[in-house]
Formats: sequence, structure tokens, C-alpha cells
Amino acid sequence: MSLAEISARIAVATKEAGRPEGSVTLIAVSKLQPLARIEALLDNGHRIFGENYVQESSGKWPGLRQRHPDVSVHMIGPLQTNKAKTALELFNAIHTLDRPSLAEKLARLVQQHGISPELFVQVNTGEEPQKAGVLPDQADDFIAACRLMDLPIAGLMCIPPDGEDSAPHFRHLAQIAERNGLRGLSMGMSGDFETAIAHGATHVRVGSAIFGARVTS
Ligand SMILES: *Cc1c(COP(=O)(O)O)cnc(C)c1O
Repeated sequence: MSLAEISARIAVATKEAGRPEGSVTLIAVSKLQPLARIEALLDNGHRIFGENYVQESSGKWPGLRQRHPDVSVHMIGPLQTNKAKTALELFNAIHTLDRPSLAEKLARLVQQHGISPELFVQVNTGEEPQKAGVLPDQADDFIAACRLMDLPIAGLMCIPPDGEDSAPHFRHLAQIAERNGLRGLSMGMSGDFETAIAHGATHVRVGSAIFGARVTS
């Protein structure tokens, strides 16, 4: 599907949800995509991208950013604490803040360097043991702890379990955000972004529906 088609579907879903036009940000997830496909989107004027791997992004984005300084790259994959500094240099936003050790590291770096990416706390709404994210009943405490470290939190992020209806997970994430006074909701992927918008998503992360299948290594 083309970028224009996805944007049109986002606009329709936003309107149907009774939400203001332009209140949903489309993050084009470009992990494991050939450079030519990313360049095609950039030529089309798209500027907001999502990546999962620090190393892959270090190879790709510094060059692309030279030609397009207004690009915004969002980290949506798990982040190792020892890569936090590189991540701050590479990314405008991090959607996967999921543990105290990473929060402490980011808080120190933000203070030292005076730059602050937009931060989303990842919540493991499905309580899946193999999945990252704070558990729903620990989210309030974790958000409070981040705020005590002067780490500004923009919102919450979730990845619902495979093969389950996403709607209850999106609803749950929206509730946790609401009671913590957070506006940002990073939720919805190729298969469920319209459902996410109906539940208040401010950022949808769409990869394969825009780019086609990823190149597996
Ligand atoms: C890969 C990925 C996406 C994009 O998935 P698609 O199904 O290709 O749209 C979105 N969010 C996260 C966290 C991802 O890892």
C-alpha cells in the first residue's frame, strides 16, 4: 500500500473517532528495509521513521539525516543500557523505556548533554513473559519514579500479544495513560492501526503495510 493510502486511512479513522485532523502521527517503520524504499518515502516528503536496532540505525540514518536534517527517527525496539548514549545521539524519540536501570542511565545522559528525546514507557499489557515492558500494575510507580528523576515522559507504548484482539490492550493502555496524566499513546501497527486510533493512539507504527515485506537476514 502506498504512503498516501495509509495516510488516507489514518485520516478517515481519526475523523470517525471524532478526533481532530492531524492528531495522529504516522511513524514509518523502516527496520530491515532496503535504503531505496526509505529514500522513496523521503522523496515523497515523509519525515518520521521508526527503527528497532541501534546498530542498523547507526549505519543508515547519519547519512540520510545529512540530506534531510528535519527527519525524526524513533527507536521502537528494545534498548540495551550500554547503547543508551548512542541512542540519544541517533534518535529523536525512544518508545521502549521499560526498566529502572535504563531510566537512570537516560536521566544521567539527559542531564549531562542537555538534550531530551521524547520518551514513551513501554507497558507489557499482555503480561507476556518473553516481552519487554513494565507490567500494568507497576506502570504508575515506574512513571512516578521517572518523573522524580526529571525524566519527562511523553506517553505510553504497547505491543499487544500476537493473534489476540488488540482492542482491550489499547483500551487498557489508554486508561493507564489517563490516570497518569499522559497524552501520548504509541500503539497500532500495520494490522490494527485503525483500531488503535479509535482508542486514542497519537502515534501509530506502520511498517510492512507501507514498505512491503522486510528483508530478512
Ligand atoms: C516492526 C515493528 C512495527 C511495525 O510492524 P508492521 O507489522 O510491519 O507494521 C511496529 N512496532 C514495533 C515495536 C515493531 O517492532
